[in-house]
Amino acid sequence: MSDRESIEELILRLCATVPDYPKPGIVFRDLTPVFADGPALRAIVNALVEPFAGQFDAVAGIEARGFLLAAAAAYATGTGVVTVRKAGKLPRPVFTEKYELEYGESALELHQDDLQAGSRVLVLDDVLATGGTLAAASRLFAQAQVHIVGYGVVLELSELHGRSALPGHRVRSLLRLN
Ligand code: AMP
Repeated sequence: MSDRESIEELILRLCATVPDYPKPGIVFRDLTPVFADGPALRAIVNALVEPFAGQFDAVAGIEARGFLLAAAAAYATGTGVVTVRKAGKLPRPVFTEKYELEYGESALELHQDDLQAGSRVLVLDDVLATGGTLAAASRLFAQAQVHIVGYGVVLELSELHGRSALPGHRVRSLLRLN
């Protein structure tokens, strides 16, 4: 990242676009090359946490690429990290929230005792598409009586209107694409 390159330009330059993955018609935005670049990883993590500085006790990452962002953000801010996982991966008592996929249904889970009621969490993921995933995360943290200070994503696919699935929440996205 040069002094003259904006964060949007940096993400656009490094993000890989994969047509028809994982199925025909989907344009997959692969951010792993952004994560693999040291200055880029630092820049995106700093940009994601900056609007919420001092306002959260922990960072939650959505499985799986959200884990990478959340761990880095937690380390950078001296806060804890928690994992929001696909169903059946966590070994102890969980809160569960189902959500709709394009075909079928999935579920996210959170350990019941990972965060105390009343604590404040910043939730991170790589991409905001329809918002179904983060809306399910909202309901999970509501069950846990944990306050969501906001959501951060590297890339927002604007035409899918994911923000409208997250009413009343602050959403920080670093790059918007159609
Ligand atoms: P959604 O629940 O529709 O907002 O989808 C968001 C989740 O699905 C995130 O965890 C993303 O990693 C993944 N995702 C959805 N669409 C894409 C896409 N076009 N490219 C990359 N990841 C995607």
